[in-house]
Amino acid sequence: MAVGSPQPGAGLPTSTSRLPTLDDLDPAGKRVLVRVDFNVPLTKDGAVADDTRIRASLPTIRELLDRGAAVILMSHLGRPKGHDPALRMASVGAALAALLGRPVHTMAAVTGHDVEETARHLRPGEIMLLENLRFDPGEESDDPRLAQDLAALADAYVNDAFGTAHRAAASVVGVARDLPAYAGRLMAREIAALGAVTSNPERPLVIVTGGAKVSDKVAVLDHLVPLADAILVGGGMANTFLAARGVPMGDSLVETAALADAARIAAAAGDKLVLPVDLVVADAFSAEANTRVIAVADAARDDVDSAAAGVHAAGIDPGWRALDIGPATIERFRRALLGARTVVWNGPMGVFELAPFAEGTFAVARILADLPNAHTVVGGGDSAAAVHAAGLADRIGWVSTGGGATLEFLEGRMLPAVAALLGQ
Ligand code: ADP
Ligand code: MG
Repeated sequence: MAVGSPQPGAGLPTSTSRLPTLDDLDPAGKRVLVRVDFNVPLTKDGAVADDTRIRASLPTIRELLDRGAAVILMSHLGRPKGHDPALRMASVGAALAALLGRPVHTMAAVTGHDVEETARHLRPGEIMLLENLRFDPGEESDDPRLAQDLAALADAYVNDAFGTAHRAAASVVGVARDLPAYAGRLMAREIAALGAVTSNPERPLVIVTGGAKVSDKVAVLDHLVPLADAILVGGGMANTFLAARGVPMGDSLVETAALADAARIAAAAGDKLVLPVDLVVADAFSAEANTRVIAVADAARDDVDSAAAGVHAAGIDPGWRALDIGPATIERFRRALLGARTVVWNGPMGVFELAPFAEGTFAVARILADLPNAHTVVGGGDSAAAVHAAGLADRIGWVSTGGGATLEFLEGRMLPAVAALLGQ
């Protein structure tokens, strides 16, 4: 966590500053039911392939155990249609036990006699983990019967599953109706870090956005463009913005259906919008492709950067596709980020999964990591993966653990989990 990152509670909209947290709960001697996001990727053999999400909940779990609670954990895993032996929680329980160095009673059911008996006999410092919540159809439909069965296991409820905060599930909103409810440490950190972007951000506020598609991010841009002081667009998303300006994009990924949205967002952003002035193009979607750097005219601006680069090009030839931002664009983005006090980044600058097209994404990660006085937030599964791949995650203020939940927060929507914790 970099200097200048928000403390929980800092920069929150007044509506969430009253969020009850673990500071408001005395867990000693209590059974505490904790909704976590253990929706981890599994290997072909069913082992945990990446334990990032499990680790992200350890502070809350450890704190509750240390403060004398008996902890009952629950999560969903994957998208089972009813009971699915391939998506049982057994391997997650084993991974958690290894991380904590304590046994975890991993149940074979979500509710029922065994679960009730184990919960009843659970002592302070002990942990149990319920079976995959989505084995019960009542989870996704927010069935009050399931919520009551879960709530009956415990004295208090803690939600630390920011990744599912946008889903009105029984374990997210239903249980919060039936028990005293508190945000876990991860949930509170997420809300504080993202809230510091969307409400009263320290300025300048710079948005960096990219990724494959405009259509995934239209609602985020509609919400953030009026708030931001600058909007930098890279990645596949920039292709569509450039195409909307009439730049020939060759065989690049261009979202024809989103051209009108791109034009509308560009008009709303005006001269706050910063588009690429050069792109790395390739003659195939492959790490072995031939590549070159092409200048693209940003019609809205005097094209200082591409003129300086000594290149003049109208756009991309057929047979070639843009797979990364170019060096002049990286410089332009660096200048736009200099002095920023708040930065939120969602969406890679290129196809960073292929080494020849990772430089734009990694360069932006380095720029964010080096900003001296900024609250920096990275959201989105692929963007977070890129920051980790660059080895810079611990120099970013906050790398959000949410995918859809993070985007919905940045769209300015009240997340069902947050509303439930606020008693709304
Ligand atoms: P996040 O998960 O961070 O929200 P997205 O899912 O929106 O990000 O976008 C990530 C994907 O966008 C990556 O798989 C990356 O390869 C792809 N991408 C980025 N730039 C381009 C491009 N120029 N052409 C095609 N795909 C791109
Ligand atoms: Mg993604």
